[in-house]
Amino acid sequence: MNTTIESFAQLELSPPILEALAGIGYETPSPIQAACIPHLRAGHDLLGEAQTGTGKTAAFALPLLDRLDLSARKPQVLVLTPTRELAIQVAEAFQRYAKNLPGFHVLPIYGGQSMVVQLRQLSRGAHVVVGTPGRVMDHIERESLDLDSLKTLVLDEADEMLRMGFIDDVEWILEHVPIERQTALFSATMPDAIRRVAHRYLRDPREVKIKAATTTVTTIRQRFCQIAVAHKLDALTRILEVEEEFDAAIVFVRTKTATVELAEKLEARGYAAAALNGDMTQQLRERVIEQLKGGGLDIVVATDVAARGLDVPRISHVINYDIPYDTEAYVHRIGRTGRAGRTGTAILFVAPREMRMLKVIERATRQPIEPLQLPSREAVADKRVAAFRHQVATVLESEDLDFFHDVVAGMEDSHNADIHDIAAALAFLAQRERPLQLPQSAGPDIATQTAARAERPPRENREAILERRRDFSDGRLQRYRIEVGRNQQATPKDIVGAIANEAGIESRFIGQINLYEDYSTVELPADLPHDVIDILRRVRVRQHQLNIRPLDRDEAQRDAARPRPGAGPRFGAKPAPRGEDAPRKPYAKPWDKPAGKPASDRPHGGKPFHTDRRDTQGTAFKPGKKKPQRDR
Ligand code: ADP
Ligand code: MG
Repeated sequence: MNTTIESFAQLELSPPILEALAGIGYETPSPIQAACIPHLRAGHDLLGEAQTGTGKTAAFALPLLDRLDLSARKPQVLVLTPTRELAIQVAEAFQRYAKNLPGFHVLPIYGGQSMVVQLRQLSRGAHVVVGTPGRVMDHIERESLDLDSLKTLVLDEADEMLRMGFIDDVEWILEHVPIERQTALFSATMPDAIRRVAHRYLRDPREVKIKAATTTVTTIRQRFCQIAVAHKLDALTRILEVEEEFDAAIVFVRTKTATVELAEKLEARGYAAAALNGDMTQQLRERVIEQLKGGGLDIVVATDVAARGLDVPRISHVINYDIPYDTEAYVHRIGRTGRAGRTGTAILFVAPREMRMLKVIERATRQPIEPLQLPSREAVADKRVAAFRHQVATVLESEDLDFFHDVVAGMEDSHNADIHDIAAALAFLAQRERPLQLPQSAGPDIATQTAARAERPPRENREAILERRRDFSDGRLQRYRIEVGRNQQATPKDIVGAIANEAGIESRFIGQINLYEDYSTVELPADLPHDVIDILRRVRVRQHQLNIRPLDRDEAQRDAARPRPGAGPRFGAKPAPRGEDAPRKPYAKPWDKPAGKPASDRPHGGKPFHTDRRDTQGTAFKPGKKKPQRDR
């Protein structure tokens, strides 16, 4: 049905919107836009599945803008996004598309922004509010977000919200918005948990699924390079040097510290590079992104969280300097290139023990990842010499060299030197700042080492893959004590949420949590960098500073001696009875058990969805004990 749609005008969007799109330079609707816009215009609920970079934002923003009543400055559309960066990006997109709608107002709201400012902005009113789940919940509870006029709720990047542990918050919000509404859910993937939310809260939704690998993946050339950790930096600079069609790169690493360290090393090697991580203020992060867009920076070294959803068309290369933890992260990362119809290159560094992960990624993305032969020392030297020769040739052609002829003639006479020797000496001087040859290191060139290794790919091993999921650099977990416990109403979910958000440690690398009366213990990677621990020390859960520290030996023994009942689900598990100093059950990872919460634990008893919604409305349901985590 969509194959015939070639222009936005065919989608019956209003003239002000069409003019704005012409101004931005969109020519034809993307497939997801062509498919979704008619449904959303008609007021239907919608379940949209399409990869990142396929234009989902406009798919909902355009039709919803057309349905706004601009004379009423009250929230009519609420969009939930997993991160503040995305909230800002989506709000900016609305603003651009609404350029010709007089008086239009969109407001992003997210954790970390001053509450006072947000309350003021909200009281002034906005037609569209875009927010992260935690902050939106806050405002619903405070009744500072007026939902009386809400017509449409959009869940953007629903799978990401699930991955980040916000799904309970999202459901809470779904329970608190008016029943008479349109709901649209967008997601790059459709895991069961998301499908269940859709079935529960969407009414007779139209389903739109755009086949994976249309936009993103086919325009991205994916390559990998097997390399020992110690040689990664050398490998990266070689690649950057010889890559054709290089414009800008985003380099992914695992930790915030690594972003800073690697950016500094690249800067020292003459690249315009900067770090992008969750420790940086919003302002600073935005500046880095602006610089990258404008060409003031060519390389940004980022963590997954900081770069999520980043949309900078000139990124020609994504370098997976540290391998991602899972295939979704990989797909999100490489989606930063090959945007807006351009082609891109994704390069994955794989340590020898990570070769299995490579196979998993290939299988999940159904795309082969070609081996990349690291440029040899000679290849890099050739490239540099070629550039040098070009420079010399340009000077010979365009500069007046009379004075320098005399200087050289003078040398020839006084040293009685051969003209070739003099030229060689001058070439030597000219390249001292940026040598033409890579320094000789001991042992064989890393390029030949990688070639040899690539010849023996290790065999698949399921255990090892599962094991890898717990792996955080060297894989060891250690127990830490945090100063918040059951008496402070802390739940494992609060704790996981706070640690994941503030320290950028994904929840899957957070091990078992034991809740005690006034403190808790939590398993985290043993090799957490100091700066991460410093951040965690200051993090607050339920207003209590964590003051995290490793357990000493006695404490660890006491903690370990606690009885350990069998595994149970972490999320949605009932809180342990109060007053009993027993640890919580070890939990299964969310991906082990997508079955969600037991029905009995749902505030509304897991009834079918119609009754459910009416109940919720009729009794002005407030979620008693259940207070989902905040995004801070
Ligand atoms: P998604 O949400 O699916 O990841 P976005 O909405 O962020 O995708 O869009 C990705 C990029 O494509 C953005 O730079 C956006 O401006 C651009 N884009 C969206 N729709 C179109 C279109 N119809 N024509 C050209 N570019 C588009
Ligand atoms: Mg999006």
